[in-house]
Amino acid sequence: MMRASSPALSDPPSPVEILQKLIRFDTTNPPGDERACILYIRDLLQSFGIQTHILAKEENRANLVARIPGRGKAPTLMLYGHVDVVTTTHQEWTYPPFEGKLADGYVWGRGALDMKGGLSMMLHAVLDVVAKGCPPAGDILLVILSDEESGGRMGAGFLVDQYPETFDGVRYALGEFGGHTNYIGSRRFYPIQIAEKQLCWMKATVRGPGGHGARPMRNGAMARLGKMLTALDRRRLPLHVTPVARQMVKTMADNLPGLRGVALRQLCNPCLTDFLMKLMGENGKTLEPLFHNTVNATIVRGGEKINVVPSEIMVNLDVRLLPGFKPEDAIRELRRIIGTDIVLEVTRFDPCPSKPDMNMFAFLGDVIRQIDPDGVPVPLLMPAVTDARHFARLGIQTYGFTPMKLPPDFNYFETIHGADERIPVSALAFGARALREVILEYAAC
Ligand SMILES: [Zn+2]
Repeated sequence: MMRASSPALSDPPSPVEILQKLIRFDTTNPPGDERACILYIRDLLQSFGIQTHILAKEENRANLVARIPGRGKAPTLMLYGHVDVVTTTHQEWTYPPFEGKLADGYVWGRGALDMKGGLSMMLHAVLDVVAKGCPPAGDILLVILSDEESGGRMGAGFLVDQYPETFDGVRYALGEFGGHTNYIGSRRFYPIQIAEKQLCWMKATVRGPGGHGARPMRNGAMARLGKMLTALDRRRLPLHVTPVARQMVKTMADNLPGLRGVALRQLCNPCLTDFLMKLMGENGKTLEPLFHNTVNATIVRGGEKINVVPSEIMVNLDVRLLPGFKPEDAIRELRRIIGTDIVLEVTRFDPCPSKPDMNMFAFLGDVIRQIDPDGVPVPLLMPAVTDARHFARLGIQTYGFTPMKLPPDFNYFETIHGADERIPVSALAFGARALREVILEYAAC
C-alpha cells in the first residue's frame, strides 16, 4: 500500500521545514543516538501512507527502510542518506548548531550540508510524488542510515551484512557526495560522485634494540621511527593518472575557455601533473589525492617507562588507494620510501570497484542542465569514503547526487564538519526539484 485509504493527502512539509526538524535532533556521532530522528522520519513517511521498517543492530542506532511502489517503467532505484553528524565541540557558531535557525536565506545547523539537507530533499521529493498521486518510474527504495560518520558499522555496513536481501534488484543508488556547484571562474560545474578512493589502514611496527635509559642508544626504534616519519613527510607515493581522474579533468578542461582549459588538460600528462599541481598552490593540493595513493601516520604507540628504551613502536598509517589499486600495491610503493626493515600489516581494506558504471550519469547530468542550463555536470572521484563502499559490495553503483545551486561566494567545504554549517534555502528547493525529476523520469539505464 502506497497511499492511505481515501482522503486526499495534504502537501508535504517543505524541504526547509523537514531540515529544521532533522537538525533539532542531536545525532552527534559518537554516540549517534539516531533513533529519535529516525522515528520522526518514520512518522512523517507513515502519515503519507508509506510503510517503513526499522532495522537496528543496537536499539539507539536505528536505520529505516521504505519502499515506494513505482509504475514498473524502471528497475528499483535506491535513495539513501545518513542522519548522524560530526561533533560541534570547540567550535564558535553564530547560531546554536541544533536550533535549525532560518536566517539570511540559509538554514543553519550541524548537518545542513552533510547530510540532513540532502535527506530533506529526498524526503520532500518522495512525499511530493506520493501526495500528488504520481508514482515514480520504478520502485524507490528509501534507506535512512545511522553511523556513516564513524564507518557505518551500525548503518550501511550492518544492513549489507545482515539484510542483503533488502537490496535485491537494486543496481543504482543516489546518495552523497556531489551535485553541488563548484565554480572555476564564472563557470558552474556540478561534480557528481561516481567513484571514491579506497580506505586501506595499516599498522607499521618499528623495531630496534631496547635497554636501560641510562645507556646511550643509537639507531634504536625511536630513531628509526623518526627516519620513517621524515621520509613519509618528504616524499609522496608515485603518480597515477587513473581513467576516472582523467575523465573528471577532461570534462572540466573541455568546458573552460582559453589558457585555463589548456593548462587543466595538461594535468593528465604524467610528465607535467605534479609540476602543475605545485604551480596551482592550494588548488593543486586539493587535486593531489586524485593522482596519488596517499598515506598519513596518525597514531604512534611506544614506550612505557621513561627509563626504558623501547624495542618496538607501533604506528597507524591511514592509507588511501586510488580505484583499481590493491593493498599490495601500496605496500610496494611504501617500501620504496621507508625501506624494508619496518613490518607493514594491513588492518582494514574497504575495496571499491575499479571501474564505475556510468550508465545513469548522462541522465543525472540532463536533470541538472534542465534546471541550470549553464551548469556542467562532471564525474567526481571522491578522495574520501562514504557509505557507497558498503553498497558497492552488493554491486550497487552510487551516484553522489544531492543537487544544490550555490552562490559563488559560498564555500561549501569550509563549513562541512566545521562551524556555521548552513545551506541556502534556494539550494534545498533546487535539490528537491532535481530529485523529484529523477524519481519520476529515470528509465531502465
Ligand atoms: Zn555525509
